Amino acid sequence: MSALTIQYHPGGVQLPRLQAWLDSRRAQPVGQRVFVSHAHTDHLGRHREVILSTGTARLMRARLGGKRHEHVLPFSEPRTFEGPTMKYEVTLLPAGHVLGSAMAWIRAGDETLLYTGDFRLRPGLAVEHCEPRSADTLIMETTFGRPEYLFPPTEEVVAAIRRFCRDALAHNATPVLFAYSLGKSQELLQHLGRAEFPVMLGEQAYALTRVYEQLGQSFPPYQKFDDARVSGHVVIGAPQGDRSDLLARLGRARTAIVSGWGLDPGCRYRYQTDAAFPLSDHADFDELLEFVRRVAPKTVYTLHGFAADFAQTLRERGVDARALSEPDQLGLPLIW
Ligand SMILES: [Zn+2]
Repeated sequence: MSALTIQYHPGGVQLPRLQAWLDSRRAQPVGQRVFVSHAHTDHLGRHREVILSTGTARLMRARLGGKRHEHVLPFSEPRTFEGPTMKYEVTLLPAGHVLGSAMAWIRAGDETLLYTGDFRLRPGLAVEHCEPRSADTLIMETTFGRPEYLFPPTEEVVAAIRRFCRDALAHNATPVLFAYSLGKSQELLQHLGRAEFPVMLGEQAYALTRVYEQLGQSFPPYQKFDDARVSGHVVIGAPQGDRSDLLARLGRARTAIVSGWGLDPGCRYRYQTDAAFPLSDHADFDELLEFVRRVAPKTVYTLHGFAADFAQTLRERGVDARALSEPDQLGLPLIW
């Protein structure tokens, strides 16, 4: 049996022969080492022993608290770990998703595996550049794994967001951009602050931006959200939380959701906002294909989003691929 045999569990991928995990939402006990790809809450768990990048370690401490045995690996430096029956080597490579986000490149014996976590090939303003590396087996996220998900050029989306903000302010309304507090909020701060919009950040986004600064990132001026002084500012906040309370405190406001799902015509209705902008920290369909081309794997396993669709797309192009995270029909018609 291969040293890099994988086993899928909802919320994580296990490498049973190495007693290791590639992300796990469920807390893992002593004896199980967990690679944590990045600090979005859907990738974090209260594990006892973790492998992560410097940035993710710092952000995870800020978000989760508590103590755990941390193996903090600088990017691109291989580290050898002792498994139950063999040694294996882990190298973290930048994933380009949020600050500190990493892919794990693993070598055990003469086999190699690349696990992407969430990733993006397009460059961002507050994140490292993604560095794909060839591997025998690729486990990749496929959130936007359908051909209709092609993001417009970033400059175009940013120009539209700036127009939206300028227009709201000209009408004495507060522009409110709902975006993830980790990653997207910092990108928006860079894009808007550089255009000299005064920015206020929601509480979570503010706290995480401080961590980004401790990690060496620098930003245009910004303030913590304060409804008494909000007039004339752009507010960048999180999509979750007590939104109606926030909007009641703001008075006149215009709202927008900033997400890759903004490509869906119904997105702004789903999020009940005035506008939707498709700025994403994930790869779009073409980037997913480009990523596979650069890794040139023998086998691909897809995870998250349109995993089955993207696996099917790869098989049509002659790549051995299957979905891990949803039932995969392997293209066979259903027989009643
Ligand atoms: Zn993520």
